[in-house]
Amino acid sequence: MPSEPLVADHVLEFPGGYTRTTGPVIGRFLTELRDGRIVGVRTAEGRVLVPPLEYDPDSGDPVTGEYVEVGPAGTVTAWTWVETPLEQHPLDRPFAWALIRLDGADTALLHAVDAGNAKALEAGTRVRPVWSTARRGHITDIAYFAPEVTKIVSPVKAAYRITASRSLTHFLEGIRRGVFTGCRCTTCDKVYVPYRLSCPECGNAITDEVELPDTGTITTFAINNLPDPRAPEVPFVSAYILLDGADIPMIALVGGVPAHEVRQGMRVRAEWVPEAERTLSMSNIRWFTPTGEPDAEL
Ligand SMILES: [Zn+2]
Repeated sequence: MPSEPLVADHVLEFPGGYTRTTGPVIGRFLTELRDGRIVGVRTAEGRVLVPPLEYDPDSGDPVTGEYVEVGPAGTVTAWTWVETPLEQHPLDRPFAWALIRLDGADTALLHAVDAGNAKALEAGTRVRPVWSTARRGHITDIAYFAPEVTKIVSPVKAAYRITASRSLTHFLEGIRRGVFTGCRCTTCDKVYVPYRLSCPECGNAITDEVELPDTGTITTFAINNLPDPRAPEVPFVSAYILLDGADIPMIALVGGVPAHEVRQGMRVRAEWVPEAERTLSMSNIRWFTPTGEPDAEL
């Protein structure tokens, strides 16, 4: 007749803890921890071991007995993320076990890193110890390591008033009518847009006004992945557009086309907002949109 297997549960425990001696090397390390310092020991070859060991793990030779203060900051060399901490873990929230090479050390120390989330951590992340309030000469005297502060979010708001020059006012009056007003320098023959009163190239006063068409060619562009209140969506494209007949490009948004299809030489036309909505501003141009013509030679 089959019998049930005999099973007995045991717990091995030293109530109050198991007392062990540290030896001089680990003892020095823990004593320094209690005093808020982290030390390593120098090997005969000159390397600094943190935590210190009695023997050089590479050669087996005894270490020198020279203690070197390291850190306290260091660099994460490897880590593993603990999403669900266990009862005996140092933190009760998700954290990382990390190998941390403290500044001045040649080996890495294993400790917990409180990084908030796994994405905040990478090989090379700089961390600093957060010390326990009551230190007693134990590795937990360092409660955990925390990333160094590398960025802050500051509220930014600037209110200011721009007074348009006479030439810019004239240009914007054209934009309100749906016209690009430019000018031609009679000395060097360059055509500028927006309209201006002197030539930046030869310094002469400009008297010739020209109207430019609202078509042009993209000379260069950028795909922007950060939101901008002036742009309709992310990603959006800002481009330098050389209006037909102009000698210098102007910057504007490009729309009505997927960002990855925008290219140098692309022919575009301004898309104007309805006349009733126009003001004395560049926002009268919603964006430039492809005309569908073959690309232009740049
Ligand atoms: Zn000129």
